[in-house]
Amino acid sequence: MNTSDKNQNQIWHPFTQMKTASAPIHIESAKGTILYDKIGNTYIDAISSWWVNIHGHSHPLIAERIAKQAQTLEHVIFAGFIHTPAIELANRLLDMLGSDFSKIFYSDNGSTSVEVAIKMALQYWHNKGIKNKKLIVAFENAYHGDTFGAMSVGGKSTFNQAFQDHLFDVLHLPLPHEENIHEVTLQFEQLVKEGNVAAFIFEPLIQGAAGMITYEKEYLDSLIKLAKENDVICIADEVMTGFGRTGKTFAMNYLAEVPDIICLSKGITGGFMPLGVTACAQFIYDAFYADDKEKTFYHGHSYTANPLACAAACASMSILLEKKCQDQIQEICISHAAFISQLIQSPSAKNVRQIGTILAFELVTNEGTSYFNPIRNQAYQYFMERGVLLRPLGNVIYIMPPYCITKEELTMVYGVIIEFLNSINS
Ligand code: PMP
Repeated sequence: MNTSDKNQNQIWHPFTQMKTASAPIHIESAKGTILYDKIGNTYIDAISSWWVNIHGHSHPLIAERIAKQAQTLEHVIFAGFIHTPAIELANRLLDMLGSDFSKIFYSDNGSTSVEVAIKMALQYWHNKGIKNKKLIVAFENAYHGDTFGAMSVGGKSTFNQAFQDHLFDVLHLPLPHEENIHEVTLQFEQLVKEGNVAAFIFEPLIQGAAGMITYEKEYLDSLIKLAKENDVICIADEVMTGFGRTGKTFAMNYLAEVPDIICLSKGITGGFMPLGVTACAQFIYDAFYADDKEKTFYHGHSYTANPLACAAACASMSILLEKKCQDQIQEICISHAAFISQLIQSPSAKNVRQIGTILAFELVTNEGTSYFNPIRNQAYQYFMERGVLLRPLGNVIYIMPPYCITKEELTMVYGVIIEFLNSINS
């Protein structure tokens, strides 16, 4: 441990078993896709730092916009007050989301954007005086965040095992695939026709933390259609998939059906500031708009719509919508597709899949597919020693780079993956 790091023992890290984890790497600065540590090592950030950093680190435009905002208005209570960055961002987001959405509710991270969505959906039925619509349907293995509501709609896992007795009941449907789509549809149809389903929440097209598990847009479309025909509020959790990740601005842009609520965070500020957004359709908002105080949406956080975060998000949206960035996204998509033809040759890689800028596959091991597969640490270490940050989910290796990643950097990322595959195969 570096002597100047002696006080780091006071810090308890997220998703980390502190007893067995190696000392965290002290990052001093970062630029573009490169992280620079204190002792002179560099790492290509091939996972966009927990999937947030879509435009590369320390992007000058976002940094400048935040700095300017910090000298004008850093924060103001958002009940009874409003400010320009929040207005500008809401307008921009609604333009991007399309006319099916009409209100933006701010919070400050992905989990809270989901909490807000769940509470909006449940209170919608409460405000309407409909007493039996209380059940939420989600997918098995879903991950929607770490707060209690988000854990409840998430699939049962080691992550939330200690809290199972405290989570509310949610019906978890198997993720649809070719073999089970008929049964899943039947089960869902029966459920929604019973009339007590309040909402259906899903990660569109790809379940992230579950291991980058993809599923067909047609299957999701048919479930959303069924839900909507039976008065079930549809919540798209686009915390990971939003802002270009899947090759389109939102994963829902691949769908024919439109959800009623969408949750956004992560890439929204380009990874600069924490921010959550829950956007909803007009009819949801209308159920809260009343003289009756009990119909108010009593939810808010101290940092709701923080001006610095909203300013960062406005700058991030400008960069995203530029042709240059759109081209970069498409180049990554093409590049990944070409890499797949190489990957599938390896006997150590299976279930290779891609959605837009996300590429994932499973390492073939005796332990099978699991978050706790020991190959995870071996792979992580191997990549880090070669200057590439990839953070496998068990035996699932995935790449989710910032859009500004260069061809050379991508080639290097692909290269270390192939090297690793060869090393475990020999
Ligand atoms: N929803 C999805 C789909 C996510 O991937 C995540 C985070 N990985 C969350 C919600 C929670 O976001 P946060 O970590 O910002 O609370």
